[in-house]
Amino acid sequence: MAVKTFSQTVNTEGWGDTKNLTPEAEKYINKSGLSDGILTVFVPGSTGAITTIEFESGVVKDLAGVLERQVPADAHYHHNERWHDGNGFSHVRSALVGPSLTVPFSNGKLILGTWQQIVLLDFDNNPRSREVVFQIIGE
Ligand code: ZN
Repeated sequence: MAVKTFSQTVNTEGWGDTKNLTPEAEKYINKSGLSDGILTVFVPGSTGAITTIEFESGVVKDLAGVLERQVPADAHYHHNERWHDGNGFSHVRSALVGPSLTVPFSNGKLILGTWQQIVLLDFDNNPRSREVVFQIIGE
């Protein structure tokens, strides 16, 4: 059993910018030299999130629309009163979607559905440079 940890810088536009990280995840599985195990993808930071989605513009917009209706950017947030950074909605959306994802892999291949991609969502209200962690445990 081995543990390999990689990190990757991802530049985003903020405001829900969605980046497909599946090629990076596959790259790090190959780089690890491991055949079977689990990959954890984690974004440090309280306004980012990791999930899976079919990475096509329609459903990416649909998810953004649901989040805007459920957690509107211009609603009242206690966080904004306290810190005046205007990104209360970003923190709440991040908490709802979550900061990490675990995906199993076997024979050096991630076990994902055909239309299932790993994505980073950046909910902050500014462009950001994110460090995304790919930690692989396996043999
Ligand atoms: Zn904040």
